[in-house]
Amino acid sequence: MKNLPSKVYFGSIQQGRDSAFASLAAKLEKLLEHLDFSTIEKNDKVAIKMHLGFHDGYQTVPVFFVRRIVKAVKEAGGWPFITDNPTAVYNAVERGYTQETCGCPLIPVAGVKDGYIKPVKINFRNVKEIDMGGVLHDAEALIDLTHAKGHANCGYGGAVKNIALGGYSGPSRWHRIHGVENADLWWDAKKCSPEHAQKLVESCPYNALTYDKEKHQLNIARFSCHYGNCTECIKADKDIGSLNLTPEQFEAFQELMAIAAKHIIDTFDENKRFYINVAIDITPHCDCVGLIQPAVVPHIGILASRDIIALEQATLDMVAEKGLIESEIPLYFQHVNLDPAADLHPFQRLWGPYKNPYLVTKHGEKLGLGQREYELVEILSPKKTMKMKPPKQQFERAPSFF
Ligand code: SF4
Repeated sequence: MKNLPSKVYFGSIQQGRDSAFASLAAKLEKLLEHLDFSTIEKNDKVAIKMHLGFHDGYQTVPVFFVRRIVKAVKEAGGWPFITDNPTAVYNAVERGYTQETCGCPLIPVAGVKDGYIKPVKINFRNVKEIDMGGVLHDAEALIDLTHAKGHANCGYGGAVKNIALGGYSGPSRWHRIHGVENADLWWDAKKCSPEHAQKLVESCPYNALTYDKEKHQLNIARFSCHYGNCTECIKADKDIGSLNLTPEQFEAFQELMAIAAKHIIDTFDENKRFYINVAIDITPHCDCVGLIQPAVVPHIGILASRDIIALEQATLDMVAEKGLIESEIPLYFQHVNLDPAADLHPFQRLWGPYKNPYLVTKHGEKLGLGQREYELVEILSPKKTMKMKPPKQQFERAPSFF
């Protein structure tokens, strides 16, 4: 029997009234009611997995929303804590996240030295094992609270990526999960002389290629590569044919993300998994880059679901519907595909056609993480609130805090 579409609850940043009851803050409260934390049991330890950002990037999930979610978990009887990689936790204060502002402790996902881990057998291409954060593993309930934005490796960084990368130790994230893209032979050392390798390096406008002369080894940084939009190295390699960049190599990263996310999700009871995407300040890069960036897609709002795949699909569809704000695309994107006839998601237009953001939902669905078919349930839609009578507005005409 066919499943019913999964419900994705949505609160738009758009408003029908200039009144508090019609704002995104009020919509978040309603979204949380629909998400229904009543399945959290008394004294459950509730991991709120976030990306707390890095260095100079403030465009993560605003603490304003975080503390409301924390409050709702406490009201449900749970003990919430926020978790992310150790560095992001240690300097989270720089971006406004503290126990006082968030309302709960911030705990590194794999302990203070990134060594409190639960190894997980993977056996996918060149990745045998990855190390899940022990702190996340210890929790009884999961709130995957994500800033939805672009991502240089896979086009999109959303709820799957937040746990699939962010739920594992640093070496697992950076070396093993990211390393899967280069599992296949993409460069033939025998065909390529050192001089030609140097020519390839110089052909790349994004500095994605580097060459180790001593080892005679060409390296590629996939996150800097815009293959498909850019083909400069392929042109430079035309007469030699040493390069073999394929869509499958890029896709492997997305498949592994789905696998890694599944291992984390499976550690939680089905009724204790909640997913929230905050789709505002939709930047081209993910929060790891630690930069203030222009938002390249108009603000959307907040989406919430108990089905991670439906949530991701709905978020991506909304980004596609909004499209890119062309004037905000940073100048370092030298090969953006803005051809309206090209059937590409906005994140592919930026990062290249092989960084197809929908691949993660395809693989996630295949693994049983959820389904792509969803029913969007809009909360307090602008059309609805426009017709509603607002309560009397309170203004601060004199100090009212005492
Ligand atoms: S396709 Fe373009 S961005 Fe990618 S490595 Fe080649 S030259 Fe660099």
